[in-house]
Amino acid sequence: MAMKQNNSVQSARVPVAQFTPEMKKTHTILIPMMLPIHFEMIEHVLRKNGYRTELLRNEGSNIATEGLKNVHNDTCYPALLVIGQMMDALHSGKYDPHKIAFMITQTGGGCRASNYIYLLRKALVKSGYGYIPVVAINFAALGNDSESGFQITIPMLYEIAHSIVMGDMLMCLHNQCRPYELHPGDTDRVTNKWIGEINRILDGKASTLAHRLLACYPQIVKDYDNIHRAKERKIRVGVVGEIYVKYSPLGNNNLERFLISEGAEPVVPGLMDFMLYCVYNGIEDQQLYGGSRKKTIGSQLLYRYLVGKQRQVIKAIRKQGSFNPPGCFADTLEMVEGYISKGVKMGEGWLLTAEMVELIHSGVDNIVCTQPFGCLPNHIAGKGMIRAIKEKNPEANIIAVDYDPGASEVNQQNRIKLMLATAAVREKEKKRQAKKKGNAFRLGAGFSEREWIC
Ligand code: SF4
Repeated sequence: MAMKQNNSVQSARVPVAQFTPEMKKTHTILIPMMLPIHFEMIEHVLRKNGYRTELLRNEGSNIATEGLKNVHNDTCYPALLVIGQMMDALHSGKYDPHKIAFMITQTGGGCRASNYIYLLRKALVKSGYGYIPVVAINFAALGNDSESGFQITIPMLYEIAHSIVMGDMLMCLHNQCRPYELHPGDTDRVTNKWIGEINRILDGKASTLAHRLLACYPQIVKDYDNIHRAKERKIRVGVVGEIYVKYSPLGNNNLERFLISEGAEPVVPGLMDFMLYCVYNGIEDQQLYGGSRKKTIGSQLLYRYLVGKQRQVIKAIRKQGSFNPPGCFADTLEMVEGYISKGVKMGEGWLLTAEMVELIHSGVDNIVCTQPFGCLPNHIAGKGMIRAIKEKNPEANIIAVDYDPGASEVNQQNRIKLMLATAAVREKEKKRQAKKKGNAFRLGAGFSEREWIC
């Protein structure tokens, strides 16, 4: 898919260094990390298509410091960290600045995410690195010139979409094994094994890719099920929020690791839900405001295809029977009715509310809503909706946690611990009530029948 030059005011002000076709062979594209499992496969797709790439894994307090130095301090926290991570890598001395380019992923929506590329270019120019090219991955033709040496083609998009489906599957199973593994490292080993296998499958013919991946589903689930796990029940905690702080360990101070260390099981909705949200919004726009019929039909076909892919994963996990499958976007979509309009689509918009409701309906009452500094849309659709959600679902135990460069990690952790303490009290009460009725423990709270039998 060739992306058009964006003629916005920002691009006119900031000089743009182009990623030329020759740079494909000479330059390494540095990619800021967001989702460790998914990005390994997406990076592989780029490599397979002839780009030299590297995922940035640098971390530490210096990243926020670099971000604060290089972007305006009222910029959203995710932009600050993404740009900070790139500038930190640049200043590390590890890379020849004349042989690198940066990649930035953007939602292309109406919020500030669409400006990240210009913020990065501005930061590079101000630091004397204006010659470093920046390439963009987004759905809105932002940032890349049609002459650019970096082009996302339809086959690449196809492979990236499958990487996301597989990433969601591995993440879902990984999160249900890691808190219970009896031999530390077993879950990581299975996940790494399958990232490698999937990358090998991605190397094959695109025409048979979907088929070959589908054939692996039963073995993937079986491999995770073979991990020796404790039979105990843990409190399940949903993680929702703005896309970067929800997923990125750098953005949320390793929230998943912290939840596991506190004896909880993290439940993180997949990245495909966000992709489907973007596609669905195109369809919704046509209904609300009118527009090209052709475009809507294209969005509808894509929507159906991606929902179908998601359903195949759910079916495979459900069939095997040991794990809770992820929710289906088509159901998530229904759940938002009566809470928020689907016209609310800045940032994560209505999806954020829908994910919280979907988690509660699937028995995950305890939720951390991650909120980055500077994110007005998600404060409205996230924190702003908690009261409405609790009114209809009194069992909901939701906390909003703010992430910004000045936020104390200890304070964030204390708030989460408080939420976990409430969850533990409620769990105890549920058991007491069940005993009182003379029943065995009631099936529920998101635990599968198998776990209860065990
Ligand atoms: S979703 Fe929020 S944090 Fe992300 S770019 Fe938009 S306003 Fe900023």
